[in-house]
Formats: sequence, structure tokens, C-alpha cells
Amino acid sequence: MRLDEDTIADLFRIQSLVLEAKGAAKELEELPERAVILAARTKKRAIEEKNTEVGKLYEAAESKAAAFAEEDAALAEKQRKAQADIDEARGSYRNVEARSKEMNGYAKRRAVLEQNLSDVLDELARIETVQKQVSMALAALNSKEAEATEAFVEKGTALKRRIAQLDAERAEIEQQIPADVMKAFRQLSDRTGGVAIARLAGGACSACRAPVDAARVTHMRASGNVGNCPQCGRLLVLD
Ligand SMILES: [Zn+2]
Repeated sequence: MRLDEDTIADLFRIQSLVLEAKGAAKELEELPERAVILAARTKKRAIEEKNTEVGKLYEAAESKAAAFAEEDAALAEKQRKAQADIDEARGSYRNVEARSKEMNGYAKRRAVLEQNLSDVLDELARIETVQKQVSMALAALNSKEAEATEAFVEKGTALKRRIAQLDAERAEIEQQIPADVMKAFRQLSDRTGGVAIARLAGGACSACRAPVDAARVTHMRASGNVGNCPQCGRLLVLD
């Protein structure tokens, strides 16, 4: 086929716009922030699950502490009553002995409870330490995610704007190209990853590098200044 110089120049320009837009789309797809954001979210979910478990442990320990304290208060009250009985039973040996035994029992149980309460308070302190670590880890992940999101949005917006500019410029140039040429060019472009047009350079196709024999070139020249590469099928500008 025969194409004028302007059309050929336009086709090469369209091709470079297509390739640049493809590059920008790939860059957008592969923005490293995307992986950073996803990784931060996955880690956050795991930490939040752990946080829920730790919260349950805390609640369990708290209610144990409350039960110990409640039992201890009840025993203190019983002790007080028993002591009052002893004070009132002045002289009644049997009563004093029985109440004293009771008092000993209360005191023993209260000593155990004191130890239990102290253990559970230690446990609560350990859980609080873990909770602090968890919330620090969450805060760090949140700020990492926020930072990556900001960069992602910024870079993504710039890339999308660039792609839109490239597409607009390409669409404008395409209007200058004869419809049948544009149709063939688009089909080739889709098939070849955006490289639809090449030049005959040093007897070879500049895209696929396959040599084109002289007889073939002469034959193609007979029907115009643009043929198709016998190897890759791309438009081949002969001069
Ligand atoms: Zn070729």
C-alpha cells in the first residue's frame, strides 16, 4: 500500500503513545505501595484477632479478681461477726473455742485468696503489657498504611492523568488517519503488543529483526511504500 509521509509519521507517533500509555498502565498496576497496603491490612487483621483473644483473657482475669475480692470481703465480714461473738461470749469456753476454730479457717482461706488475687493482678499486668505492644504495632501499621495510601493515591492520580493525556493525544491523531489504515493498524497493534509498524532497515524488519530478501522487497515496492513483514506481519515502511 501507499501511505504519505505524514500518515507514516502519525502512525509511529500513535505507536509511541500506545506504548507509553501501556508502560504507565503497567506502572500503575505494579505500584509498590499496593503490596505495602495489602500486607499492612493482612497484618492488621491478624493482630486484631490476637487483640480480641487478649481482650478475652483480660476479661476472664478481671472477673477472677472480682470473685476473689468478693469472697474475701464476705470472709472479712464473717470474721468480724465471729470476733464479736467471742467478745460477747466472755467466759464461755466452748463458744470461744468453736469461734476461734472458725476464725482460723477464715484466716487461712483469706491468705490463699490474697495469694490468688496477687497472682491474678500479675496476670492482668502482663496482659496490659501485651495490649500496649499490640496497640503500638497497630498504630505503626496504620501509619505505614496511611503513608503508602497517600503515595499510592498521589502516584496513581498522576499516572491516570498521564494515561488520559496520552489517550486523548492518540485519539486526535487517529482522526487524521484513513479509516481502513487505522483499522488494520489497530488489529496489528492488538496482536503485537502495541508495536504495529516497523521500518525496513539494513534489509531486515526493525521490529522482529527478520531479514527480508531483496526480491520480496522489490515485489512489495511495486505496490507501494508500505508492505507487511513476511515474518511478523507488521506494517513495514520500505523507504
Ligand atoms: Zn517483522
